[in-house]
Amino acid sequence: MDIKKKIAALSQELLHHQYLYYVKTVPEISDREYDRLFDELLDLEKQYPQYASENSPTKRVGSDLDNTFPEKEHTIPVLSLDKEYSGEGLEKWLAKTIKNAQQDLSFVVEEKIDGASIVLYYKKGRLDAALTRGSGIVGNDVTENIRTIKQIPLITAAETDFVVRGEIYIKKSDFENYNRKFENRYSNPRNLTAGSLRNIKSSTVAGVPLNILVYEGYFPAGFSNHHILILARLKELNFRINRRVGFFSDQKKILALTKEKLPEITGGAVAGLTAYVKERMKVRDELDYEIDGLVIKVNEIDVRESLGYTSHHPRWATAFKFDAPTAQTSVLDIQIQVGRNGRVTPVAILEPVKIAGSTVSRATLHNQEYIEMLELGIGDKVAISKRGDVIPAVEKVIEKNCENPTVFKFPGACPFCESALVKDGAHHFCKNRDCPEKLERALAYFVGKDRMDIDTLGEKTIDFLYKKGFVTSIPGIYKFNYDLLLQEEGFKEKKVENIKNSVEKSKSQPFSRVLTALGFDGLGKAAAADLIKNGFDSIDKITAAAARRNEEEFSGIEGFGETTALLIIEHFTDQRNLASIEELKQLGLNFAAETGEKQELPAVFADQVWVISGSFENFNPRSQAAEEIEKRGGKVTASVSSKTTHLLFGVSPGSKLEKARKVGGALIDEAKFLELID
Ligand SMILES: [Zn+2]
Repeated sequence: MDIKKKIAALSQELLHHQYLYYVKTVPEISDREYDRLFDELLDLEKQYPQYASENSPTKRVGSDLDNTFPEKEHTIPVLSLDKEYSGEGLEKWLAKTIKNAQQDLSFVVEEKIDGASIVLYYKKGRLDAALTRGSGIVGNDVTENIRTIKQIPLITAAETDFVVRGEIYIKKSDFENYNRKFENRYSNPRNLTAGSLRNIKSSTVAGVPLNILVYEGYFPAGFSNHHILILARLKELNFRINRRVGFFSDQKKILALTKEKLPEITGGAVAGLTAYVKERMKVRDELDYEIDGLVIKVNEIDVRESLGYTSHHPRWATAFKFDAPTAQTSVLDIQIQVGRNGRVTPVAILEPVKIAGSTVSRATLHNQEYIEMLELGIGDKVAISKRGDVIPAVEKVIEKNCENPTVFKFPGACPFCESALVKDGAHHFCKNRDCPEKLERALAYFVGKDRMDIDTLGEKTIDFLYKKGFVTSIPGIYKFNYDLLLQEEGFKEKKVENIKNSVEKSKSQPFSRVLTALGFDGLGKAAAADLIKNGFDSIDKITAAAARRNEEEFSGIEGFGETTALLIIEHFTDQRNLASIEELKQLGLNFAAETGEKQELPAVFADQVWVISGSFENFNPRSQAAEEIEKRGGKVTASVSSKTTHLLFGVSPGSKLEKARKVGGALIDEAKFLELID
């Protein structure tokens, strides 16, 4: 066999085994045999790079080159869906759609997975490009990252061009472990997924267990008039189809054909659709991935085309969203908040409403673009949602304020200091250094829990001290004579005493906290810790380096880019900042890390309950391992219980390993543990 053919055959074989392993989860060969084939291909591709295909299975491991994600135009309409929130609304939608179609319709019900939407473009059956949804018209090209997801076929048996839409997601059970690798940067599985797709190194993406389920295929005209048969075709082409699909039709022939081609899916007559949807909503929590509703689509492709689109949504599909975390209310006002660094955030003031057990009266609106996307104005009736600990969000406008329908426009000036707002990226900023709101926010930040932790100076007290002119700058916190408060209403002796004590006590906070508390843009908790760790363990060292204005001294630190480096130089060469720092130094705050001072470690194990079992090479006695866990905010218990989240096991771990497995705890060996605490 010539080399070219051999490479092609090996590729084919490996892609087939990847499919068996990752899509069907029934491997036919051992991991070792697989690795042998893989290495053989890798060798050949190295020797004969001219024959290596960009869709080779070896591309699955990704590369260390930086991706740039150029924007590309979609060739299919990538619209979002309109939403229904009740069974009644869904019934209405069904009736309206059938009426408009003027014929009997079949419907497909699919889970609306809460991940990252992706559009895969195939040329002559081979993956050619993968674009994010983007604006719906233009998406980012993330092809190199997508190639690393082994559930996505790179080469298919189809000989035509076609397009596939799907959702990339990470399993709930994988989220925590992998989020830790990204320093817990992501607040939920969806964010981790979206963040991974945009990771600049595809080799990093290859290490994240991303999954895909595809739900829409666009084949050359005339392929099939039934969406359900297009799904069957996608399955034939080795795409991963959600087995939890419902198909509802009153036509016996297509029902029978579906049963034959996709035996795993359920359904029946159209009359049973709403009941099915309601039933399916209940099992949401049993799934190992997040879904935020179900999608109901017209099956007949020609009808889809005749029903067409509104400016935002297709008329032939709707999303049925979960009832619980959404509510309807009115927007009473839109207020402008200004943060300590001048960033302007609009906040919707809502008619108080209960969602998932708590009363919601405010929701962030992020920025002007978000408001424009919603087309939101004061007085509008809106749907709001709340999930978990996430801040409530305005989902959509249900009804415009009919007396005065408007879309809220940002004021041109800061409402607190009247200086002109400046737009930078998606956000507006107040750039006035003396803006009273910025100064007050900076005070509140300084005394906050993760910083100087002066708990007697809460939001209200800070506001009082500031407005009265008692404390108007950060050094002022340490200079004010708090005894004067005794003359003010609401300040008894005990309370004043407590304030004085906690202010005094805060002077002993370590340098890392002081550095963070200054509240400089780009210098949060993690960045401050990195600075100290990299030898900038006193303010003098930092200011001296900043004075040299050699950004490489800072940009060389891992995680610091040029932007951060320039910000640090700017902050620590600014005369007002330096004067304030000097004053705080005189007042007795820590401006150098004490030698041997225990570095504050990031609480990566917060809320975790660990059990340790077996013996270890690096942790002997094993209480040393317990210390490492506790230092990072974790808890260690002696025996496995339902509360156990992690089991650290060494040599001969005994029965605890099995018990931990049963309660679903993560099983961590010594090597993995060393990685986690590194
Ligand atoms: Zn201002």
